[in-house]
Amino acid sequence: MASEKLNWIDFLNESCTWETKALAEQFLSGIAGSTIKLTPVETSHMSDLESYMREQLASIHFRRKLDLEYINERLSKLQLELTDSKSKRRRGRLPSLSPSSSIENNPLQRILDSVLFQFACFLGETIDSETPYTVARCEAIYKTTSLKDCKSFYKKFRSLENSWKEEILDDSPMAPDLERCADFFISAPGTKFCTDICRFNSFAVRKQIEIPSYQAEKQRRYRERQKSKS
Ligand SMILES: [Zn+2]
Repeated sequence: MASEKLNWIDFLNESCTWETKALAEQFLSGIAGSTIKLTPVETSHMSDLESYMREQLASIHFRRKLDLEYINERLSKLQLELTDSKSKRRRGRLPSLSPSSSIENNPLQRILDSVLFQFACFLGETIDSETPYTVARCEAIYKTTSLKDCKSFYKKFRSLENSWKEEILDDSPMAPDLERCADFFISAPGTKFCTDICRFNSFAVRKQIEIPSYQAEKQRRYRERQKSKS
């Protein structure tokens, strides 16, 4: 795993693939620099934060009202701390400026608070910015069968995911068998995909969608021509 500092986009992108508790613990332990074992309550707190972030990202994108109550309530409990590389309190891959946990020795809480703080900064910049957002959702489409590792994710966020999906798939008859790549990324002008893999896959899947309709259209035109001849 890369040694980069924790950032909220990676956290969210990674969370889609946490089909088991062990997978989540593996990622979180890597960030914390110590073993994390999730309790059911902690899993539920993490899930709430993830849902909140996904809902706000959709709200920004689809120009809906942001819910600032949740984040303000949590921000009011945070205390920021700046640590340097020599600090004993510095842990794992948490950024230098992170909230110090109100619960001592709770690495998970520090991670969640850090993600929350970073996301709050992003929301603040978005509210102040003239451009609507700088974080984009990948536009790649995949067959559902090739996204087995994210099965629970698509199930949990079904209604949000439908909005993201409809935006790029219109009313494709194949839509029930397709999903949109779940990843967000820092957007650059003209970039639609999070990686080259997504770009290539999306092209291949779209071709498969287009070909059946192209053939149906071709047959229809043929029949029309035959009719006009007779
Ligand atoms: Zn992607």
